[in-house]
Amino acid sequence: MILLANSEAWPGFVETVDRLNAGEHGLGAMVAGISKVEHEVSVRSVGLGGWPNMLGEMEFDAGVMDGTTRDVGSVGALRDILPAAALAQAVMQRLPHVMLTGDGARRFAQEIGFPLENTLFDDSKRVWWARLEKELTPEQLAAFPYIPLAPLSRTITDPERVRDTTVFLCRDGSTGIHAATSTSGWAWKYPGRLGDSPIPGAGFYADSRYGAAACTHTGEMTMRCGTARTVVLAMRLGHSLGDAVKLAVDELSELSTGFLGGVVIHAIDAQENHKVVSFRCGEGIEYWLWQTGMPGPERRLAETL
Ligand code: ASP
Repeated sequence: MILLANSEAWPGFVETVDRLNAGEHGLGAMVAGISKVEHEVSVRSVGLGGWPNMLGEMEFDAGVMDGTTRDVGSVGALRDILPAAALAQAVMQRLPHVMLTGDGARRFAQEIGFPLENTLFDDSKRVWWARLEKELTPEQLAAFPYIPLAPLSRTITDPERVRDTTVFLCRDGSTGIHAATSTSGWAWKYPGRLGDSPIPGAGFYADSRYGAAACTHTGEMTMRCGTARTVVLAMRLGHSLGDAVKLAVDELSELSTGFLGGVVIHAIDAQENHKVVSFRCGEGIEYWLWQTGMPGPERRLAETL
């Protein structure tokens, strides 16, 4: 067995390891771990600790994929409901659809018993409003939110606000390879913006025969390249894990227009090798790894490409 997750995963990583060791299906084990991450307010990019959109509303994106059946469930721009990855799993299990967004996702959550929650943490609200006070004129502030929001799009590059996602990939005791993601997306994003985390093929993909991949950081790039699917398809076509990730990085580096930034690719193969590569995100990107035989999870440094 192998479990790979990014640095934000710490509140739920051991929970997932324990469940994998107990023989649980890998997807359920990862969703249980991610639920813990989503409720940990000190993780400032996922769930309750994440950042709101420009209107000060928390909007969550999450996705899950069962690599044995290639079933997928995802939710996007989900308000007032957590855990989002668990809801994505319920979409997969209970509906003939793959993805629900916005009001529909919230309605479905309530129908199946998820309570409405206040998901805007006080500190996030304070920082959001302070940022608006810095960006807007007194006239704009007085008229807010009835002002055009598009000119505020530059706020998504707020250097003081990290943006990230929690991504989990595993190969479980039944040789199933699965993927799960959850995020509040980019701080101060335009309302309704979906990142790559709920988009199968972009932010996550899994196929038990070959491997799985999941991405963090600039979803606006991985959605254009289908990055997670590229990695898994390249392995299907015979590339090694390392070559598959390199191919996906080459595709990202070919982009020259639109919003460009960094991407971190996390990937595993069916032989339980793993690779975590930081593309234009600099050094110091960390991730969590556990494999059968390890006494406990290890925190490691990603390669830079
Ligand atoms: N990839 C996520 C998104 O684009 C955010 C992140 O992981 O930093 O929403």
